Amino acid sequence: MRRINYIAIHCSATRANVDEKITLPGEDIGVAEIRRWHTDPKPKGRGWRDIGYHYVIRRDGSVETGRPLDEVGAHVAGYNSSSVGVCLVGGVSEDGKSENNFEPPQWEALKILVASLKKRFPAAKIQGHRDFPRVAKDCPCFDTRAWAAKEGLA
Ligand SMILES: [Zn+2]
Repeated sequence: MRRINYIAIHCSATRANVDEKITLPGEDIGVAEIRRWHTDPKPKGRGWRDIGYHYVIRRDGSVETGRPLDEVGAHVAGYNSSSVGVCLVGGVSEDGKSENNFEPPQWEALKILVASLKKRFPAAKIQGHRDFPRVAKDCPCFDTRAWAAKEGLA
């Protein structure tokens, strides 16, 4: 197994289903959809060989496995070889703005997943994509370190 120094938290930057009566295509997504965005040839997709993340947490809190953990992912420039990438589905408001809009089952699933990763990689730091150097976006749209501290995971 490779050396893991970081557990990196991301969001999919897709809209949340704030009103279940409204059908917004593309929001209740998981590994299958994200894998397609990442592996479709350019310019439609990114042209990668697999999904960039190791785990995806769907809106209902189910955890899906992406790239195998022992393989280097594609989710934080410069830090992929030493990190695990976890992606929460959501993070964007109806009008396309960055928004912490994750569902209670997603928080619960994130806590369980990150706790198990911490058990396996005790030295790994938990941080959001935006906490890495030279990242211009807000991903994952919340303070990951404060969350980890609150949950006793930091
Ligand atoms: Zn990200």
